[in-house]
Amino acid sequence: MSVSGRVALRGIPASHGVAVGPVVMLDRSRGPVPRHTIEPAQVSAEIERLRAAIEASRQEIEAVRDSLAESAHSDYGLILEAHLLMHRDELLVDAACRRIQRGKINAEWALRRTVDELKLPLEQAGSGYFRERAADVEHVGQHIQRHLTGEGSVLPPVDAPSILIATDLSPADAARLLRSEIRGLVTATGGATGHTALLARALEIPAVVGVRGVLAAVDAGEPAIVDGLSGEVVLRPDPAEVGRAASRAARHMAFVRGLRERHDSPDVTADGVPFEGWANIELPAEAALVAHDEAPGIGLYRTEFLYLGREQAPSEDEQTRIYSDVVSVMAPGAVVFRTFDLGGDKLPAHAAPCANPALGLRAIRLSLADPDFFREQVRAILRAGAAGSAKLMFPLVSTLSELRQARALVERCASELEAEGVAFSRLPVGLMIEVPSAALMAQTLAAEVDFFSVGTNDLVQYTLAVDRGDARLAPLASSLDPAVLRLLDMTARAAEGASIGLSMCGDMASDPIALPLVLGLGYRRLSVPLSSRPLVREVARRVRLEQARELATEALGVATAEEVRALLVAGFGAQLGELWREEGLEM
Ligand code: PEP
Ligand code: MG
Repeated sequence: MSVSGRVALRGIPASHGVAVGPVVMLDRSRGPVPRHTIEPAQVSAEIERLRAAIEASRQEIEAVRDSLAESAHSDYGLILEAHLLMHRDELLVDAACRRIQRGKINAEWALRRTVDELKLPLEQAGSGYFRERAADVEHVGQHIQRHLTGEGSVLPPVDAPSILIATDLSPADAARLLRSEIRGLVTATGGATGHTALLARALEIPAVVGVRGVLAAVDAGEPAIVDGLSGEVVLRPDPAEVGRAASRAARHMAFVRGLRERHDSPDVTADGVPFEGWANIELPAEAALVAHDEAPGIGLYRTEFLYLGREQAPSEDEQTRIYSDVVSVMAPGAVVFRTFDLGGDKLPAHAAPCANPALGLRAIRLSLADPDFFREQVRAILRAGAAGSAKLMFPLVSTLSELRQARALVERCASELEAEGVAFSRLPVGLMIEVPSAALMAQTLAAEVDFFSVGTNDLVQYTLAVDRGDARLAPLASSLDPAVLRLLDMTARAAEGASIGLSMCGDMASDPIALPLVLGLGYRRLSVPLSSRPLVREVARRVRLEQARELATEALGVATAEEVRALLVAGFGAQLGELWREEGLEM
């Protein structure tokens, strides 16, 4: 039952663009799960019933995956693949069967308890990544549950252009629905990096996620506006508002089309200086998308995403297989493997708690503290190097001694592989500049590495002592702060002086307002999320580097982030204002 009259709600912008249309609802909120005990004689039949439901659910998801295989979005099939693995996972299947046997309880209740138990540590881990993995477990559990209760997976028919409003979408639901007439998407839960957001972006469907209370506020058939730029969802808008939103939607579509048409334009600034737009990835499957987009390389592969949520680290051979696939998919483009950046906001499920995780045993420190674990990864990366072009990069290095220890381990691994007669490559070695001490010591460090890549997300966090995950502190965490700019400048000068490679892979490289400054400070290799690449390339093409250099010099002399921003807006508003506005940025 909804309220009447216009209602505006806010959520997290998950996929750019604006959509208008009547609402279709998909409410999959959890109903009560049947619970009863069974006789010992019924145990094997009950286990059989659970196995049959798992099999039916598996077949259904497989069919959706196969239907995607022929489409341009086969990469999304890999997310479904991960869900299919859970159908075979002994943690889920065997544990639920054991529960039926030991507890003499019905299959629905055994499944529910098992899913809740698997989700708990993921939910408690605190980071958005794990909450999303918990949501994956929940989706698989619910899918099987629907087969157990005979509900199946009935979805609302969508045959006219509509806005889909749902509690959350399982990957299978999302894949099916988003290929129908859905023009916009709103979910009550979820985050900007969840699979729903990912698919919506891949299909270019405007989406807002995490809109609390949205299901109770609207009825099917009522009109709605989804603004994937601002994160606003308007239910029952007035007709004039609908008209304005429709023209904004058309304008944004034309804007995106324009960017796409410029895909083959050369990557040079307005005064002819080359720059490079590389891509960041978290999952191996994304490499195919990067290659398809013809990006020159992967500037940051966050390998730790392989490890998160698993009880055991992937073995050296498993890592070698995965990394080699990524390298060969990208060849002749290069892949920069960042060694595991675990700890901090990315804790594996079983990690020991740490009183101050951001300053604790994380990233390279954790790897050096466990040389066997580190060695397996380094060997796997060196072996993968034989499949094409790869580089090795260490996260969160704060001292030269750490770098030397890490390099020595790489040397040892290379000698071992050589002695064993295993195919491998000696790779360029670089480090991330993401701690002030590394930027301050950049000259010294530059003498002992082949490249630097600046991680501005952490560099801002550690320079300004601002927790990067705390939304309340977001205004403080500005990459435009002069303190940050000075460290960026020191880093760029040190790289230039030592003639080593330099890139930026933190979020500042995809901020269309900061970009002229980034270029002006000397950063020409920008590694950004794939979805940001068209815009980043367009912004950089419109920047005159000479002007950007002058602005950088001026920015290094001012006192506050606000003044730096004002310089950027005044200096580049004429060339870039249109792009900024289309991105929903306020000036
Ligand atoms: C960074 O810190 O800017 C970075 C690129 O690494 P991550 O975001 O994975 O910490
Ligand atoms: Mg970092």
